[in-house]
Amino acid sequence: MADTPSTDGKADGEKSAKGGEAQAWRLRTRLVRGGLKRSSFRETCEGLFLTSGFVYEAAEQAEAAFKGETERFIYSRFSNPTVAMFEERMCLIEGAEAARATASGMAAVFASLMCQLKAGDRIVSSRALFGSCQYIVAELLPRYGIESVMVDGTDLDQWREALSEKTTCVFLESPSNPTLEIIDLAAVAELAHAAGARLVVDNVLATPMLQLPMEYGADIVVYSATKHIDGQGRSLGGAILADATFIEEELQPFLRHTGPALSPFNAWLLLKGLETLELRVARHCAGAGEIAAFLSGERGIRRVIYSGLPNHPQHALAKAQMKDAGSIVSFEVDGGKKRAFRFLNALKLIDISNNLGDAKSLITHPATTTHQRLSEEERAHLGITGALVRLSVGLEDVEDIKEDLAQALAAA
Ligand SMILES: *Cc1c(COP(=O)(O)O)cnc(C)c1O
Repeated sequence: MADTPSTDGKADGEKSAKGGEAQAWRLRTRLVRGGLKRSSFRETCEGLFLTSGFVYEAAEQAEAAFKGETERFIYSRFSNPTVAMFEERMCLIEGAEAARATASGMAAVFASLMCQLKAGDRIVSSRALFGSCQYIVAELLPRYGIESVMVDGTDLDQWREALSEKTTCVFLESPSNPTLEIIDLAAVAELAHAAGARLVVDNVLATPMLQLPMEYGADIVVYSATKHIDGQGRSLGGAILADATFIEEELQPFLRHTGPALSPFNAWLLLKGLETLELRVARHCAGAGEIAAFLSGERGIRRVIYSGLPNHPQHALAKAQMKDAGSIVSFEVDGGKKRAFRFLNALKLIDISNNLGDAKSLITHPATTTHQRLSEEERAHLGITGALVRLSVGLEDVEDIKEDLAQALAAA
């Protein structure tokens, strides 16, 4: 065989997709080709480097690598060629200087906060958060002497008051999960910066297809790649995007020494997911818009929450800040938890599952699953009632989804 893989431990050949021409590519091209680096085998598809380590020709090479005198792959806890392709593609899509991938969305959230906070610091966060994010901000960080303040995300006066003091970090999710609150990113970024804080945005529900928080002043963007980026229910993953100084000086040492590394296999799946992200998200949104309108006219539904509907409290802000309203439709059924459960149990096509952004339509009852850890009072404040269900609209034919919803509502 004439071809042998290159021996420097780095895939060779392709121009760095970050520098040079990839920067000029349009979004769809970046999604498909961004970050691709071919090995000397010239494979079409991104190579899967399922390896924990990398070998050296001589002990001196290893010494130089560990001293940071040469740039090369050392160990897959630090970096890996397949993971690096995923990170670079994410950067190109988000328009960020640098990115690091993590094993899950929660690892991304935790690392993005923990790498920069210390005892005596202060974090201000929106109250409507994904359950595990709420745990980190409200319970975990205070254990380490970090002051944690929560505000109603849609109320700028509460942000203004909370950020009248010096603060290290501001954390928020918009749209929020599951009540789909929309937060004014530009306004909160300005208040955060005036207080000396960095703004960290969990952009999972919007995806980079619908909202780029850095355009509104966010400093750090985090993703659960488990959701729309994989989008096919196969793997967990996460990503953190920010400026190169933050990534290299604050985040990288934290990741390197604590080890929430993304598996190369999962990075490979996520690269394939990114190739179709734009197509899938557009279809998810079209389906969700139709389902939101359909549910609004159904009997037995008390309230439909979807920022694409004119009756959503932040409809205008959502239209200004997001390209489309997303794949999640939350709604309350008449008759509280009892009827909500009967409705879920009567569904034949839509699966009961807490994941979202999947090709398959998935439905969950947040009060008893993702947000069951919260107190009754906190749930009531957030609008997570026993009657609330969250539907992640999949890629099936929307008529089949509607028929399933209709028959289950009738059965309930
Ligand atoms: C799912 C989710 C997470 C956590 O992601 P995992 O990949 O499940 O760890 C964080 N934030 C939001 C908004 C999510 O929906």
